Amino acid sequence: MSNWFTVARIGHEFLGEVLSQGDAAIDGTMGNGHDTLFLAQRVGPQGKVYAFDIQEQAVQRTRERLVSHGSLDQRVELIQDGHQNVRRYIEHPIRAAIYNLGYLPGGNHEIITETQTTLRAVEDTLDLLVSGGRMVIVVYPGHPGGKLEQESVEYMVSKLNPLKFKVLKMTLINRPPSAPGVIFIEKVAEKSEN
Ligand code: SAH
Repeated sequence: MSNWFTVARIGHEFLGEVLSQGDAAIDGTMGNGHDTLFLAQRVGPQGKVYAFDIQEQAVQRTRERLVSHGSLDQRVELIQDGHQNVRRYIEHPIRAAIYNLGYLPGGNHEIITETQTTLRAVEDTLDLLVSGGRMVIVVYPGHPGGKLEQESVEYMVSKLNPLKFKVLKMTLINRPPSAPGVIFIEKVAEKSEN
């Protein structure tokens, strides 16, 4: 049961609950491709995943992971560009999104997500979500710049209109402050007139 507490597990459960075959989803930070793989499995052959990373190494690792799981790369658009440009690639609504911030594990620890571009990307991604759609953001305050990024993202999402979004922050409170935190967001389904 202790595995329940992993960020990946909880984040995936949260997104998996609303994701169905044929849906569209975004992985804002491919990294090693674990989240992209999860989304690709969930959306099925008719679905579509848009995955972003600025590093070629991340794109390659993600592609290999998808291919090794049975040509899942067919349903994923691997985009080597910053997630702040998400609107250039996606126009139609999406059901789920995940951003796993910080640096690429096993890569160059100096290449990190940056506060300004992260804020822009999160805002644009929230706009793309359908009603009832969900987004997960994993923040890592332990590396240089990470704390500022965490605080900025948390501040931004704390100001989201509560009639439009539910926002939950989760943290392991008996761990050091450098431990990752998770933000869960749901776009509230619009109420019908009657
Ligand atoms: N910290 C997480 C993994 C994060 S990977 C963990 O430990 O599991 C974060 C990825 O974001 C890296 O691969 C990095 O290249 C990528 N990245 C950095 N800036 C980006 C940007 N503007 N757009 C998209 N990806 C970016």
